[in-house]
Amino acid sequence: MTAAAVTISQRGVERILSGHPWIYRADVADASAAEPGAVVQLLDTRKHSWGQALYSSQSQIALRMLTRESRNFDRAFLAERIAAAAAYRKVVVQGTEAYRVVAAEGDLLPSLVVDRYGDHLVVQTLSQGMDRLKPAIVEILQEQFAPRAVLERNDAAIRTLEGLPEQKGLLAGEGASEVVCDENGVRLAYDLMGGQKTGGYLDQRENRAAARRYTRGRLLDCCTYTGGFAVTLASQCESVLALDSSAEALRVARRNQELNGLSNIEWREANCFDFLRDADRRGERYDTVVLDPPAFARHKSSLEPALRGYKELNLRALKILNPGGFLLTSSCSFHVNEAELLGAIARAALDARRTVVVVERRTQSRDHPILLTVPETHYLKCLILKVR
Ligand code: SAH
Repeated sequence: MTAAAVTISQRGVERILSGHPWIYRADVADASAAEPGAVVQLLDTRKHSWGQALYSSQSQIALRMLTRESRNFDRAFLAERIAAAAAYRKVVVQGTEAYRVVAAEGDLLPSLVVDRYGDHLVVQTLSQGMDRLKPAIVEILQEQFAPRAVLERNDAAIRTLEGLPEQKGLLAGEGASEVVCDENGVRLAYDLMGGQKTGGYLDQRENRAAARRYTRGRLLDCCTYTGGFAVTLASQCESVLALDSSAEALRVARRNQELNGLSNIEWREANCFDFLRDADRRGERYDTVVLDPPAFARHKSSLEPALRGYKELNLRALKILNPGGFLLTSSCSFHVNEAELLGAIARAALDARRTVVVVERRTQSRDHPILLTVPETHYLKCLILKVR
């Protein structure tokens, strides 16, 4: 079957030439022949072909590039892309049974996420086009990975921009309500149906391991979720206090403590901003602090308030660190770049009257590939700082 054609403007062509996979609705000249979610052929106004893309009838991102080749993006092509993504993980992923197998644009499969948790695969199809390919994707995953279960966590709000329903459930096989995986030498439980995202924050895995180089004494893990940093680091700490605003996350966190036979972690449901302010007033001090808050800037327009939030949070953390202590601080807001984050923390350091050394500048785990020409694929900033 030949794909329907969509005509794009010169600006759309320039987007393709810049190496970015998204073409906005304003740069579409004629999409009258395209069905929602179809794989379409891209033509410029002189009928020259520019490859194939997924078409969305609703999103401002009207087209997501699949290939600049003339070859049809069929099932075999899709299977090759998934196999290539999996082959890359064989190179960059070690010491874990939980990792991202397909990271959307980063693997040239825009808006498709596949996370592996042991013998379970969790899928997100976040655009009309990928959603239409879902049955083929599930079949291919079964062929290539022989998983016990394939689940979908399509309860992501971003789907509403595509006119797609939020839904989650089992797509194939038999799913367990809890899956336990090895990561960096600890055992971590995941609630694949009830947890945040697809169950875990796999993008911080390498940073959890890196933090081992510096962590000691009294550790405060401020947005612990299910205890990723706390559990990874507890065996080298005197004591750990781990906070989260979600009681549900802390339930799994306690389970993770138990799975690893740890006895020095205290879990507390708390707002980290309030806790840090009160802890400083009480004169509490820590040797290591981990800050891993949710994205403060979800849109470009919220950059300024987000930077104030990062400054404030880091200021409060710096105040309760003992001299010689370490702060691991992150931002997963794409709209806040590393220089802006460093600037906010520098202002916090000046206010706190602390001298801060940048020990490591890090990013997301390598199973979340950063494409050089697609800035959106570089979203996580993680800094390890030493405080004098
Ligand atoms: N560090 C975790 C991931 C953290 S995700 C890991 O390595 O797995 C961010 C967490 O912050 C979520 O669990 C969310 O529930 C929590 N959170 C959001 N706002 C918060 C707040 N104001 N205070 C404390 N926790 C908060």
